[in-house]
Amino acid sequence: MSTGALDRADPDPSDPDRPILRVRGLAKHYPTGHGPFRRRGAGAVRAVDGVDLELRRGETLGLVGESGCGKSTLASVLMGTERPSTGTVEVDGQDLFALDRRQLRAVRRRMQMVLQDPYSSLDPRMTIGRIVAEPLVIHPEVLPREQRPGKVAELLRLVGLDPAHADRYPHQLSGGQRQRVGIARALALGPELLLCDEPVSALDVSVQAQVLNLLADLRERLGLACLFIAHDLAVVQYLCDRIAVMYLGRIVETGTREQVYASPHHPYTRALLAAVPVPDPTLRGAQVALLEGDLPSPADPPSGCRFRTRCPQARERCAQEEPALTVRPGTDHPTACHFPLPAQVPPPRDAATGKAP
Ligand code: ADP
Ligand code: MG
Repeated sequence: MSTGALDRADPDPSDPDRPILRVRGLAKHYPTGHGPFRRRGAGAVRAVDGVDLELRRGETLGLVGESGCGKSTLASVLMGTERPSTGTVEVDGQDLFALDRRQLRAVRRRMQMVLQDPYSSLDPRMTIGRIVAEPLVIHPEVLPREQRPGKVAELLRLVGLDPAHADRYPHQLSGGQRQRVGIARALALGPELLLCDEPVSALDVSVQAQVLNLLADLRERLGLACLFIAHDLAVVQYLCDRIAVMYLGRIVETGTREQVYASPHHPYTRALLAAVPVPDPTLRGAQVALLEGDLPSPADPPSGCRFRTRCPQARERCAQEEPALTVRPGTDHPTACHFPLPAQVPPPRDAATGKAP
């Protein structure tokens, strides 16, 4: 299916900067309709609709967008659990969907996932020790069986849990402790890449910072590359080197953390930033007003720019022409907007007027 292998040079193993993950033109469409009426072309939920991403070794990329914009769908394609409708995923230069079973198994060891809900993702009938050891059971080539208990203790310590917790069950732990178990399990095989799908969204606010600090610390110590998925920009603020903002199946803005926070170019990014809590409550009111209405259906996205139905500055061109993700005059990083906000606009002050530009 993929033609990626043909036009791509082999990865240069001596290049320390080669991406660990590279996504090209990725789309995942779910056909709509059921039974005899379900056929090709009958319509589709375009959950992911043309995404390019790159992640380098040791780098953390924050993927941010509202619920329903396609983040988890993208993650499941990256993990190889769902096949893309079109596009390619390369892990360290290998086309994920062109691998045979043995190769896929080897690649899977290198990338692991931390899920949102640490309760439903941990089998309630298994002890913590068994849960953390499970990847080692599935990949017995990694570690001799007799060394598993020692490894489990080491992993539990690594995530800040008492190794004595190995004998307990998930329901005996707090939400934060359960997410630590999920992280320990993800680290069992010594991955290079961690996909974290809203790892703190289900946790109490008071616990979120602890788990985020743990992830930041582990990433440093283990040199992990990390794709960190979140539905708001507050969570990724301190953790990510680069940010990609997703709207209705597409990336609408991407840049370094500094670029995106200091100078958001896309009106959607600015609206997301405005929703990040600020100390002054009167400011917050004005800012939240920037993002109104619901996310349109990914089965029937608006023509032209997908954000135009909610955009305070949409013009005629926005309905007619889909903006490409590119660096435009007056901007310093790629954005998919015909009328990007110029660089160096501090969003909180601007939004304080309560007016759209
Ligand atoms: P997010 O993680 O950003 O909240 P998702 O990737 O879960 O978004 O979902 C994106 C869109 O795709 C949603 O409209 C969702 O309803 C739809 N979707 C997700 N999985 C499926 C599926 N298996 N079949 C049909 N539609 C799906
Ligand atoms: Mg999700």
